Amino acid sequence: MGQTILYPLRFEPIYQYRLWGGRRLASLLSAPLPNGPVGEAWVLSDRDDHASIVDNGALKGQTIGQLMSRFPEQMMGKLAGRFQRFPLLLKFLDAHEMLSVQVHPGYPPDRPVPEGEKEKTEAWMVIDAGKESRIYAGLKPGATPDILRQSIANRTLSDHLACFTSKPGDGVFIPAGTVHALGGDVVVFEIQQNSDTTFRLYDWGHVDAKTGKQRALQVDQALGCIDFGDGAAGLVKPTVDAAAPERELVFSCEPFRLWRLRSHSLFPVGAANLLRVLVCVEGAGQIEHGDATYPIERGEVWLLPAVVGISQFRPSEAVDLLEIACPAG
Ligand SMILES: [Zn+2]
Repeated sequence: MGQTILYPLRFEPIYQYRLWGGRRLASLLSAPLPNGPVGEAWVLSDRDDHASIVDNGALKGQTIGQLMSRFPEQMMGKLAGRFQRFPLLLKFLDAHEMLSVQVHPGYPPDRPVPEGEKEKTEAWMVIDAGKESRIYAGLKPGATPDILRQSIANRTLSDHLACFTSKPGDGVFIPAGTVHALGGDVVVFEIQQNSDTTFRLYDWGHVDAKTGKQRALQVDQALGCIDFGDGAAGLVKPTVDAAAPERELVFSCEPFRLWRLRSHSLFPVGAANLLRVLVCVEGAGQIEHGDATYPIERGEVWLLPAVVGISQFRPSEAVDLLEIACPAG
């Protein structure tokens, strides 16, 4: 039996019903959308309940978890053995209505992480934003746990949240412990640590059409993990790479880095002996690796295993790509 050598991998999106979702992921992703409001497409997920599946080449049908355990060196290269699971969760969100106001836990170094919980820092790249779109990220000055608790009862919580409108191409960084929400017809690409711990502070009185009920809130836990010293989060200012003008570094934090690449001529993607992920936000082109080419279209997400290393990307039209690196990679 010959040894399998990994190659650039494309994954099937996993669509998720959300009461706040819409239909706009249909024009972004090529896979057909199920009926009803679709809020999320999980495009790379190594979770037992929703495992991403390869849809190209000899490994078609394998989950990302199977690849992580069968080919740890080829997948992660220098970082092999550091992660049992793929450390990031990548999604597109279509927030037609407002999402619940929520917070993900962060734990200071002197505080142990409770059993079953994980930190979760996330960030959004705005892809499309309607006239009514809003992003809430962080607190206005003066907000305290008591004020927030009272404002939840009065339905005036949003008065205490930092709010801004956004446009395509904006980057918003949401460290663990930051209150956040978005909606009013905004489509974003979301990158986050692979954790599902979310505490809902407020849900705008939404009733879930599927259950006829409001969704549960976790106000005490949410207030317990809000970073009250942090104030408003805001738009990120990307830094341009002087050596590679097509490349801007948008997010750089311990759990991930994300670059935006814009060009209409050939440029390198990937990294030697490290895994990278490419997300095509606009345009199209192909990845050239060895003698093989891999066409990539708008809305597609490709994983470049560490063994693939540096490849070339040849745009067929002006392209807007995101490139993502794992922790310390
Ligand atoms: Zn969130």
